[in-house]
Amino acid sequence: MTDELSNEPLRAPTGTHDLLPGASARWIALLGVFASLAERSGFGLIHTPLFEDVRLFRRGVGTETEVVGKEMYEFTDRGGRAMALRPEGTASVVRAFIQHHPIPPFRAWYATPTFRYERPQAGRYRQHHQVGVEVLGIADADVDVEVLALANDYLKGLGLIGYTLRLNSLGDGECRPQYLASLREYLGANQDSLCDEHKDKITTNPLRILDCKNERCKAVSADAPTMNDALCADCADHFTRVKAGLDAQKIEYFFDAKLVRGLDYYTRTTFEITLDLGEGELTILGGGRYDGLVEVLGGAPTPGIGFGSGIERVLLACDRQEVFAVEPPAPLAYIVDTTDGASARDLVAQLRNEGLFVERAYGNRSMKSQFKTADRSGARFALVIGDREVADETITIRDLRGGGDQVVVARDTLLTSLRELAAKN
Ligand SMILES: [Zn+2]
Ligand SMILES: [Zn+2]
Repeated sequence: MTDELSNEPLRAPTGTHDLLPGASARWIALLGVFASLAERSGFGLIHTPLFEDVRLFRRGVGTETEVVGKEMYEFTDRGGRAMALRPEGTASVVRAFIQHHPIPPFRAWYATPTFRYERPQAGRYRQHHQVGVEVLGIADADVDVEVLALANDYLKGLGLIGYTLRLNSLGDGECRPQYLASLREYLGANQDSLCDEHKDKITTNPLRILDCKNERCKAVSADAPTMNDALCADCADHFTRVKAGLDAQKIEYFFDAKLVRGLDYYTRTTFEITLDLGEGELTILGGGRYDGLVEVLGGAPTPGIGFGSGIERVLLACDRQEVFAVEPPAPLAYIVDTTDGASARDLVAQLRNEGLFVERAYGNRSMKSQFKTADRSGARFALVIGDREVADETITIRDLRGGGDQVVVARDTLLTSLRELAAKN
C-alpha cells in the first residue's frame, strides 16, 4: 500500500478535536461534578464497547432517525460482521442490562464518546462526548422527577443559567395509536402544505413532522392535534405527577406539546434542555422515558428513563456565560537541584508519596534556568538544593509568590515546614 500522505503532516480527522493537558482539567472537573451528583442518587458508572452489532442501533434508535439513517459510522470488521460506532448512549446500556440481567432497579451513569457523520460546525463534532444516566425497572413518575432534578443540578452545578427545560408526554401503547391515527388524518388533509422531505413521511413517521424546522411544516403543525389532548387516564396521571414533583422542587419547565421523539418505544415523559446563546437555541441535554425499548431489544418488558448531554456543547455554553472556568492545578513545590540531581530524584519520590504535587527540572540545568521553569510551572515554593544544603542536610524553601522570602530548614523537618508555610495564606 502506498502512503500518499508521506509529505503532509497528519492531523486529527475532520470534525474531531484533541483534548490536551491543561484544557482537560475542565473535563476532569465536569466529570467530577456529574459523577458525584449521579453517585449520590444511586447511579454506578457503566462502560460498554464503543462499537456494537449494527442491529442494536438500528432497532434501538431506529433507522428512521437521522443519527442512524444518515449519520452512523458503520463498518464491516475483519470477520465480516456488520458493526457501528455508538451514535448515542442509551442503546448500549439497555443491551448490557438485557445481557447481564442485574436485579432492577438498575441505575447507570456514563461518560462516552459518540460518533455521528455530520457537517462539522460550532459545538458539533463527528466524535463528540456525552455524559448521561439510565434507570431501568422503575415506572414510577417520581423517578422521572429525580432524573430531571439530576439534569438540572448538573447544569446548575456548572454555573449555567437561563436554560429552558422543555417537557412533554408522548403517551403510551394505550393512547398513542389513536392519537397517531388522528394526526395522520390531519396531516393527510394538509399534505400539499408540508415540506418536500415530509410530504411522504405521513404514514412512516408522523411525529417527526411536528419537530420539523421548515416554515411550511411549522405552519401545518401549529393547528395539529396534540398528544397531550389525547393522553389516557394513566398517562395523564403520570404526567401530572411529574409536573407536581417539578413544582415541589421549584424546577422551572415549559410544557412543549410539539416536543417529540419519533419512535414507538419512547413513551410518556420526554424532555430537552435548551439554551439561547444568541444564535438560536442550542440543545444541551435531552432524554425521556422509553418503556418499550427493552422489549424491542429482546428483553422482558421493563420501563426505563434517562438522558444524555453533550460535553462540548455544555462547555461551549459555559464559555459564552463565562462560568466554570477551571485552571489546571499548579504544583505546590518545584525542586531546584544544582548538584547532580540525585537529591531531586529522591525528594520528588518522597513528597509525592506524601500526596503532594511536586515537580523538578532535569538534566543539570543552571540555577537560573531551573528557577525560570519553576516560575512558569506556577509552583508556590521552590525547594533549593545546592552543595551547602547537601553538606548540611538542609533545604532552602523559597516562597515564589511571597516576594522571594526564604527559609533554611533541616531535611528531616521539610514536610512539616512545607505544610506550615503552605497553610499561611
Ligand atoms: Zn418538514
Ligand atoms: Zn396512555
